[in-house]
Amino acid sequence: MGFGLSARALVAFGLIAVAALVGYLLNHDVSAMLLVLVAGFAAVLLMAALPEAEQRAPQPTATPSPHAATSALIEAIGEPVLVIAGTRVTHTNAAARQLLGEHILGEDVRLAIRHPAAAERLVNAGGDEGHQPIHLVGLGARDQRWAMQVSALPDGRRVVHLTDSTGRHAAERIRVDFVANASHELRTPLAALLGFIETLSDEAGDDPAIRKRFLGVMFDEARRMQRLIDDLMSLSRIEAEKYRVPEEKVDLQALVEEVRAELAATPDPRGADLVVEAKAVPVVIGDRAQLSQLLHNIAGNAMKYGKAGTPVRIAVAPAGSTMVRLTVSDEGEGIAPDHLPRLTERFYRVDSGRSRSVGGTGLGLAIVKHIVERHRGQLDIASEVGRGTTVSILLPAAVSSTRNVTETQGA
Ligand code: ADP
Repeated sequence: MGFGLSARALVAFGLIAVAALVGYLLNHDVSAMLLVLVAGFAAVLLMAALPEAEQRAPQPTATPSPHAATSALIEAIGEPVLVIAGTRVTHTNAAARQLLGEHILGEDVRLAIRHPAAAERLVNAGGDEGHQPIHLVGLGARDQRWAMQVSALPDGRRVVHLTDSTGRHAAERIRVDFVANASHELRTPLAALLGFIETLSDEAGDDPAIRKRFLGVMFDEARRMQRLIDDLMSLSRIEAEKYRVPEEKVDLQALVEEVRAELAATPDPRGADLVVEAKAVPVVIGDRAQLSQLLHNIAGNAMKYGKAGTPVRIAVAPAGSTMVRLTVSDEGEGIAPDHLPRLTERFYRVDSGRSRSVGGTGLGLAIVKHIVERHRGQLDIASEVGRGTTVSILLPAAVSSTRNVTETQGA
C-alpha cells in the first residue's frame, strides 16, 4: 500500500500495546487483550491512511455582516455608487463621497444628489425597471455630465450608480460639429458652381469673355471642393490606422529635401524661400507617405502665412538619443496665444477669410496632429505675434539603425 507510519502512529501503537498488556494483567483475559490490540492497531492504521486535509478540523470562517458586505462590494466600484433605503442613503463608496461630499451617508438622497432631474426618479421607489439613465449636468464640476441609473435590490433597497459621460458627450459633440462643418464647407463651393452653371446656360454664356471668367471661377471652386474632399479622406484614413504603429524606416533628411524640391517646383514664388538646415540624424520609424504629407502641410502653412520674401526654415536635428526633431519656422504675423490650443481642431481657423483666400481647408493641422499621434511623436506650436511661428515635431528614432544612417550620411 505504500504509506509510511508517522512517529505519532508508532507512539499510538506503543500505548495500545501497553493498554492491552495492563488489561491482561488485571483480568487474565487473552481474547479481550487481542481484541484491544486488533481494534487499536486498525484504528491507528485507518487514521494514518486518511489524507491530512480530511483529518484537519475545519477552520471557522468569519462571515461579514450584510452591512459590511454591501460596503465592501460598492467600495470596489470606481464610479460613484450609493445604496438607498426609501430615500435615505445607507451606503456610499469613496467615489460617491468625493463627488457629493463626506456628509451624504444617512442623508436624504435628494439632498445628497441635489439635482432637479434626479429627484423625481429617486423618490419614485417603483418603476426603476427599464428606465433610461437620467442625464445630470453640472454635478461636481460645472461642465461635468453624469448618467444616473437606479436599480432595485430584492430586499427593497435601491442602488444609485453614476457614470461619468463627459468624455462621451464631448466626443459626440465633436462628431456632430464635424459633420455640420464639413457639409457647410462643401455646400459653399457647390452653391457657387450651381449658380455659375445656371448663369452660363442663359445668354451670359454666349459672351466669350464672361464665359472664360466664369469658367475660371468654377474651376477654382471645384478645386476647393477637391482639396476639401482629399483632406477629409486623408483624415479618415489616418484615424482608421490610429492604432497601427508605423514600421517603415524613414530617412527624414532625404524626405525633407524631397519635399523642399517638390514645393520649390510649384508655381508658388514662396517655394524659393524654403531653406533646409539638416544635421545628420538617425532614421525614424514612420510612414513615409504620411510624413511627407505632414511636411507639406506645415511647410505649406509657413509659406501661406509667412511674410512674402522671408525665409521658411525646415530643420532636422537629433533630440536626445531616441528622438529626432523636425522644425518649420516662418517670419509671419504669428498667432495670438489664445488661438494656439485650438489650431489642431478640425476647421479651426484664426482668420477664415484669409485661410480660404490662400486655399486653406482648415484641416491641415488636424491631419498633422493625427499623423504625429500615430507616430507616437509630439507636436508643439510656438508663435509670437509680429515675429512668426515655429512648429516642432519630435519623432521616435530607429535606435538600432542610428549608426548606419549617420555614418552613411556623414560619409
Ligand atoms: P488652413 O487650411 O486654414 O491653413 P490649418 O489647419 O493648416 O488650416 O491651420 C489652421 C489655422 O492656423 C490657419 O487657418 C491659420 O489661421 C493658422 N496657422 C497655421 N499655420 C500658421 C502659421 N505658420 N502662421 C500663422 N498662422 C498659422
